[in-house]
Amino acid sequence: MILVIRPDASLAQIEHIVERVKELGYTPHVSRGESRTIIGVIGDETKTSPESLLAIPGVEQALPIMKPFKLASREFSKGDSVVHVGKVRIGGGNLAMIAGPCAVETYEVMDTVAKYVKAGGANILRGGAFKPRTSPYAFQGMGEDGLKILRDVGDKYDMPIVTEVMDPRQVDLVCRYTDMIQLGARNMQNFDLLKECGRTNKPVLLKRGMSATVKDLLMSAEYILAEGNKDVVLCERGVRSFEDSTRNMLDMAAVPNVKGQCHLPIIVDPSHATGRPDLIPAMSRAAVAAGADGVHIEVHNCPEKALSDGPQALLPHQFLDLMGDLRRLAEALNRRFSRNDEEE
Ligand code: PEP
Ligand code: MN
Repeated sequence: MILVIRPDASLAQIEHIVERVKELGYTPHVSRGESRTIIGVIGDETKTSPESLLAIPGVEQALPIMKPFKLASREFSKGDSVVHVGKVRIGGGNLAMIAGPCAVETYEVMDTVAKYVKAGGANILRGGAFKPRTSPYAFQGMGEDGLKILRDVGDKYDMPIVTEVMDPRQVDLVCRYTDMIQLGARNMQNFDLLKECGRTNKPVLLKRGMSATVKDLLMSAEYILAEGNKDVVLCERGVRSFEDSTRNMLDMAAVPNVKGQCHLPIIVDPSHATGRPDLIPAMSRAAVAAGADGVHIEVHNCPEKALSDGPQALLPHQFLDLMGDLRRLAEALNRRFSRNDEEE
C-alpha cells in the first residue's frame, strides 16, 4: 500500500504515521519529494483496509497495490482455473450448458425437461428445491423431496446436478444430493452461507447479486476460496437498472472484465438477466462470443403451468435450436461443450 501524505502534514504527524504503520506490523518506507511525501507500506495488505489508514491524521490517500481479493486474482493464479462438476469441466476452453426448469416441480416434469435438454447437449441439469421467492405466498420449492427427484433424474440421464441452497442450515442436506451448490443472487453477500459452502468439497455456482459490483462478486468468491474450497464458478445474471423492458440489465462486459483480473470460470445466465425467451438465444450467443465459460438457461416443457419463472422458460425445441448455434459458435472459437462421459 502507498500512503500519500497531506502537503500540510507536520513532521510530528509523519512520525506518528510511521509509528502506526509499524504497530500494525508493516515496514514503512518514507520517500520525501520536493512538495509531497509518500510512505510505502510493506507487508500483507489483506490484513488492513486502506480506509482504516485514512483515519490517521496527515494521510491524504491510501492506495492499495494488490487487489482486495487475493486467492481469486490472476496474480495468485495465472492460468484459467478449470472446475469439475462430475466429469464435466468448466473453464479453460470447456463450456458448461446448465439447463432445466427453475424449480423441481414433479418427477414427470423434471424427467421430461431433462430428456430434452440432454438430447440438446446440456451437460449439467438444474432445478431449485429451495426457492427464493419475492412473495412468501409463492411456491417455495419441494425441499428434500425435490432434491431426491433431481438426483434420480440426473442419474437417469447421466448428468451432474446443480441446485440452490439458501441457508447455512441447509448446506449439509443439499450436499448429500447435489454435485454443485448454487448460491443465488439474493444470497451473494450472505457471508455465513458463503463460508459454510467454502467448507464443503462441492463446486459452487456463485451468482452475481442484483446490485453487486464486479468487485463485490469477486470478494464473495474470495470468502469461499478462503475457507479452502477452490471450485468456484461465477455467474453473471444481470443487475437491477432503470430499464424496465427486461427483468434485469445483462452486464456482458462483466465476462471479460472478470477474466482480466480473476482466474475463475464465469458463465452467463440470460434467463434471469433478460426474463424474455425472445432475447435469450441472442444473449447466449453473445455470452459465448464474449468468452464466457458456459451458459445457464431455464427450460420448461409447459411454461404456462410452471410453478416458478414460467414466462422466461425456453421451450424444448427453442433450446435445441439454440444449442445447435452455440455448438457451431464454440467450434469456431476453438472451444467445446464438455461431456460427462469423457475420460480425464
Ligand atoms: C434461479 O436460478 O432460479 C434463481 C433464483 O436465480 P437468481 O438467484 O440469479 O435470481
Ligand atoms: Mn428461476
